[in-house]
Amino acid sequence: MKSCDLVLLGAGHAHLGVLRLWAAGQRPPGRIVLVSPQPFAWYSGMLPGLLAWRYQPDECRIALEPLCQAAEVELIEGTVEHFDARQSLVRLGNGQLLKGRYVSLNLGGQTRVPPQRDVSLDLLGVKPFSQFLAGWQRWQQEGLKPLAIVGGGPAAIELALALSNQPIGQELALICQGELLEQHPAALRQKVRRLLAQQAVELREHCRVDLIEHNTLRLSNGRNLAFERVILATGSAPLDCWQTSGLPLDKHGFIRINPQLQALNHKHVFAVGDSASLPGAAHNGVYAVRMGPVLAANLAASLQDKPLQRYKPQAQTLALLADGSGGALLSWHGLSASGRWVGWWKHWLDQRFMQRHRWLPLEA
Ligand SMILES: Cc1cc2nc3c(=O)[nH]c(=O)nc-3n(C[C@H](O)[C@H](O)[C@H](O)COP(=O)(O)OP(=O)(O)OC[C@H]3O[C@@H](n4cnc5c(N)ncnc54)[C@H](O)[C@@H]3O)c2cc1C
Repeated sequence: MKSCDLVLLGAGHAHLGVLRLWAAGQRPPGRIVLVSPQPFAWYSGMLPGLLAWRYQPDECRIALEPLCQAAEVELIEGTVEHFDARQSLVRLGNGQLLKGRYVSLNLGGQTRVPPQRDVSLDLLGVKPFSQFLAGWQRWQQEGLKPLAIVGGGPAAIELALALSNQPIGQELALICQGELLEQHPAALRQKVRRLLAQQAVELREHCRVDLIEHNTLRLSNGRNLAFERVILATGSAPLDCWQTSGLPLDKHGFIRINPQLQALNHKHVFAVGDSASLPGAAHNGVYAVRMGPVLAANLAASLQDKPLQRYKPQAQTLALLADGSGGALLSWHGLSASGRWVGWWKHWLDQRFMQRHRWLPLEA
């Protein structure tokens, strides 16, 4: 068993921010490790652009080894299989055990999957991204087949626009449980409906998928739709391993945390991003990124017995949705806009995020 002062689980958005700040010179003393299934972290904001052939894979992922080297954090390639909060003990997929004086959880979520029976169609969840991209690549090699995207939030819309904007003639349907982009301004919804219609995407709103059976989506309105391929972009569900962790969970299964980003009643366990549940903090990359600096400060403070900071979720977030053809749509505080300039702005913000986390490998 490996004992550490701090174990960082997952290279999510907040942990990337922690590593960046520590690489820049604010690292606390102690033995610190990061666990990640791969030596890189995908940046979700650029994935629709990757699918639309606007970016290459390397442009959309952050290499972890140089960032960890600069932050003096040991990178362990592995997948978390079990976490015991009481003992502060982590078991990885290869059986390796890690024990941390403090543990920080930034493992994101998993795709929410509708009930299934004898599924014969090809099903891909958007998370984990590596699996999704491998599946997507395989589909491309096998050739076109009728495809449905299930989901009505920003990720589902961006994927639908990215895939329908390619000159390959993909037959595509978008199936939303309620109205698309429910949390966003009506004007934005109308704009997106127009764009989807222009791209010949068959939009079906107020159609909840109750069951996936054989090659058919059975909908709440009694209709059945047959497809050969389905992408699930249905939002974040909690990871299964939280159920046996002993951590306090909300009614959905996410880890309940306090404003200091500690799991309730477990001061040695921190949880952030899509893994965590804090009133006012939605599950998206913006909140996960904003938690990063407070998490960095609080992990350092904990290791040095100093007082912790409070994280206050921002009331409004800016949402920028790539439109699949170089432009983007904006939603902020009830306002919406769209066009090429929004696309350039989104590109600039995405590039800035990537640049901040790109460190050159140290000389041997
Ligand atoms: C297509 C798409 C586009 C999106 N675009 C945006 C956007 O533009 N803006 C926005 O705010 N949000 C966006 N989102 C939502 C956003 O991706 C998530 O809310 C955000 O990634 C959550 O960040 P996180 O730090 O909690 O976890 P993540 O960024 O998901 O990171 C979790 C990390 O944990 C690792 N991990 C997972 N399980 C394990 C395990 N068992 N063991 C070890 N490591 C593990 C993963 O490899 C990953 O590196 C998008 C989502 C999708 C699907």
